[in-house]
Amino acid sequence: MSAATNEYVASLPMILDEVEVVGVERVSPSYVRVELAGPCLADCSVDGPLYDQRMKIVFPNAAGRLPSFAGADESWWTTWMEIPEHERGSMRTYTIRDLVDSGTRTRIVVDIVVHDPGPDGTAGGSGNAWALRARAGDRLVVMAPRRGHEFGGIEWSPGTASRLLLAGDETAVPAIRGVLRDLPPDATGAAFVEVPTADDIQRDVVAPAGVDVTWLPRGDAPRGASLHAAVIAWLTGSAEPAPQLGDDEVDPDLWETPVYSSSGETVAAATEVPVADTPHAGLYAWIAGESKVVTGLRRRLVNELGIDRRQVAFMGYWREGVAMRS
Ligand SMILES: Cc1cc2nc3c(=O)[nH]c(=O)nc-3n(C[C@H](O)[C@H](O)[C@H](O)COP(=O)(O)OP(=O)(O)OC[C@H]3O[C@@H](n4cnc5c(N)ncnc54)[C@H](O)[C@@H]3O)c2cc1C
Repeated sequence: MSAATNEYVASLPMILDEVEVVGVERVSPSYVRVELAGPCLADCSVDGPLYDQRMKIVFPNAAGRLPSFAGADESWWTTWMEIPEHERGSMRTYTIRDLVDSGTRTRIVVDIVVHDPGPDGTAGGSGNAWALRARAGDRLVVMAPRRGHEFGGIEWSPGTASRLLLAGDETAVPAIRGVLRDLPPDATGAAFVEVPTADDIQRDVVAPAGVDVTWLPRGDAPRGASLHAAVIAWLTGSAEPAPQLGDDEVDPDLWETPVYSSSGETVAAATEVPVADTPHAGLYAWIAGESKVVTGLRRRLVNELGIDRRQVAFMGYWREGVAMRS
């Protein structure tokens, strides 16, 4: 049964409904761009700029079937997780690259990174496998912001910062692009983006004149090496290699923002702003990508350079060798 027909789903504070793929484009070696449409998206809207607005996609199970959310209420997550794993499909997190048009013509645009199979032998994950075969007419379930309701999912929160740092890998490109697009014209700072190849550079990224954007094609270099070096050089003036971290040094759910800590650290009250007498006063750093790479940068910025925790957001968007849970 289509979730669209269910009045409980319609009453949830977010959209949780089926959509149809109306556009698929392999825009570069590592990105498949999909456009998603459906009547439910007439209600999809964010109160303010999108910035790095995240959403969820439920991909079909191995038999190509989507789970039904018929009868879902606020306990939909528990109900869905009770469905046997091979039947329920898999949920992954993505960024809304763009929200285009309006009313029943509203479409969500998502850039899905496609990559080699993971070392665990999975076909690179369900999101990756789906994107490589995506066709117009395919169906997915999305969980997305509903007009007039608090959805969360925007982490960009620079407060009164006067200097901005954005850093991320290919999975963070849609988010970094969104933040740069939505910044005020007088913003200043830098963005560093590591992508698999030079052909993955997205030339339509626009940024305020005071924000330098540096693309770092990885090529055969180790993941995160050039991102780490570029960020530290920007902050300190001297380049350094990325640290070699053991798997046990990486928080599997790495998510450290001024208002949330996955490691349970004490977080500042949301009203507190960066203080003037800390190192790198006035800086706000937003860093997202593979968890080990982000952990290495976090360690350097917070533990060694002494950047105040209230000035930083470190987000593990994915973990090398580990399938996301759902
Ligand atoms: C807030 C947020 C926003 C995100 N936005 C986007 C986005 O806009 N676009 C996007 O593509 N991703 C985005 N991601 C990352 C995405 O959710 C993960 O990459 C996810 O693991 C993809 O699911 P999968 O089913 O393809 O792989 P999984 O089933 O999770 O993993 C299977 C295997 O694939 C590997 N793998 C997963 N992702 C990659 C990758 N990018 N490169 C190489 N190997 C990988 C894993 O390490 C594992 O070995 C976002 C994540 C978060 C938390």
